[in-house]
Amino acid sequence: MLQIPKDIYQVCSKLHEHSFQAYIVGGAIRDALMKKEPKDWDVTTDATPEQVKAIFPKSIPTGEKFGTIIVKSGNTFVDVTTMREDANYSDRRRPDSVKFTSNLFLDLQRRDFTINAIAYDPIKNQIIDIFQGTKDLKRKIIRTVGNSRDRFNEDALRMLRLVRFTATLNFKPHRSAVKAINPELIKNVANERIQDELNKLLVAENIIPALKLLYNSGLLARIIPELTAGAGINQGKNHQFDVLEHSFWTAQYVKPLLHLRLAALLHDVGKPITISHDETGIHFYKHEQVGAELSKKILKRLAYSRAIQEQVTLLVQEHMFQIHPHSTDKAIRRFIAKVGPEQAYDLIELRKADVMAMKHDPKSTWEYYQSMLARLDSIIMESHAFTVKELAITGSDLIRECQLKPGPLIGQILNQLLDQVLDEPKLNNYETLIAIAKKLVTD
Ligand code: ATP
Ligand code: MG
Repeated sequence: MLQIPKDIYQVCSKLHEHSFQAYIVGGAIRDALMKKEPKDWDVTTDATPEQVKAIFPKSIPTGEKFGTIIVKSGNTFVDVTTMREDANYSDRRRPDSVKFTSNLFLDLQRRDFTINAIAYDPIKNQIIDIFQGTKDLKRKIIRTVGNSRDRFNEDALRMLRLVRFTATLNFKPHRSAVKAINPELIKNVANERIQDELNKLLVAENIIPALKLLYNSGLLARIIPELTAGAGINQGKNHQFDVLEHSFWTAQYVKPLLHLRLAALLHDVGKPITISHDETGIHFYKHEQVGAELSKKILKRLAYSRAIQEQVTLLVQEHMFQIHPHSTDKAIRRFIAKVGPEQAYDLIELRKADVMAMKHDPKSTWEYYQSMLARLDSIIMESHAFTVKELAITGSDLIRECQLKPGPLIGQILNQLLDQVLDEPKLNNYETLIAIAKKLVTD
């Protein structure tokens, strides 16, 4: 017996009362069978969207054209979708038309993977598993429903879903599915949807097998060719990996937050372009700057938000920072002022992962990381001004006390004051700053 929350059970039971079929399907059943808490619940029924709306007056029609109604049950929102068989996919993106059916087999047959094509009737406590999805769940294998090549031809997004589930479920893709990947088809998939799958992949716990599959299948070269340009690029004696694999491992070693994983994946994307050799070895001068520009371009192309673009680009741009556990307080304060406190922590996290993905000594990397965090903590606790805004005086104080006119000079003076406060945080009080400002004006 599967544990199904009351709110979901009630939706199914209501549909049954009205003589309709109702099954929980898709990711919800897959996760429930794996004893994981499902993110969202999908119910499939032979009731038409109109009939679903009539039974559940408090419902929200969203994907009505594709047969989905969101039903509110208790405090839970449940996607109730009318069973359908997908007709032709002439554009390889969306089915040309949606054909509703009351045949569960047809609805399960259109689904991507066997582990996603299991249905469960909670009222009858019956699992319907036509494609041996439960067996694949046990064996941790992702297998397409039907012929992989055909299924990828119908909808190229499924290739990326295959790779993504490899990471999120920690499963192995079936060999025939891997062989059927045809990277060229990816041009039929919208960048937003590629981004969506990439995001789910990147925040998974164990991403190396999925990233390698993305590369080996040829998909990554279509999605981020700037990154695959790092394959085979040797980085000298401090590195055990080429640029591409080093980037994968750096992404693996940072915390699983999207902006960090993206920054880690892209941090050395400028290396293939900037490589040079001389008698002292291999160099990648200014690769962080070139990398930041490339990252912006890549993230824009993949339709990432402005916020993500800026966050990631800054981390790539600054990842070669020179602060270390023996730097002076002054130097660390300047670093925090330059990048911002949150970004300072992110950069330390990125550096830890970057070093771990070289030829590292785990103990010294860990010590470096701990002492850098401690330095940041204590400096941020003690100092309260890293920006002009955080100074103990404002522009209008300056205008009044020093009899100045509004204009660019005010900003210049504030910046000079901040400069001094970064060197000596004690100076950040009203009287002292006014006194320094008056001296600056008269000098
Ligand atoms: P997640 O845990 O990410 O929500 P999920 O399996 O629930 O995973 P959804 O995108 O929510 O994925 O889709 C719900 C179900 O719809 C899937 O389990 C699958 O049965 C079906 N499905 C989704 N996308 C496709 C697709 N591109 N082709 C075929 N079936 C699909
Ligand atoms: Mg889902």
